[in-house]
Amino acid sequence: MPGLPYLMCLITLKLRVNSMGKFGFSISKGRQIDYEANDRRVADYIFAREPSFRSCIECGGCAATCTTGNHTKFSLRELHILIKRGENNLARQTMKKCMLCGKCTLVCPRGVNTRNIVVLAKQAFQIFDKHAV
Ligand code: SF4
Ligand code: SF4
Repeated sequence: MPGLPYLMCLITLKLRVNSMGKFGFSISKGRQIDYEANDRRVADYIFAREPSFRSCIECGGCAATCTTGNHTKFSLRELHILIKRGENNLARQTMKKCMLCGKCTLVCPRGVNTRNIVVLAKQAFQIFDKHAV
């Protein structure tokens, strides 16, 4: 049989939950990334053909020099992260903005062949999704 303090806690908690909506609060949806459920075939395809992809330290130097990035929200650094995480839907949308000019490759302090990574990602999406990006 629960004691009075236990019942008081339950009542207080219920009152708090019920009053959250009145003050504009709500319970946030979970934002966890389930890496195990993500499709990492595109990342693996690139790792196998362009080993320098592993050297990226996500410093953002490429994104800072990218012409597209200076005029849109496109970021090569972000694209690398999305591909490595296997978040392919976002990566596919983002990647379309790259003009393949290669400027980013010239500034990368880690010698990552950034342009080739985008080319390989396009190939991988074509192979796995059966349509061009
Ligand atoms: S500049 Fe090179 S190391 Fe830095 S985020 Fe871009 S690819 Fe990675
Ligand atoms: S190749 Fe793509 S990511 Fe690199 S600088 Fe050019 S537009 Fe930007």
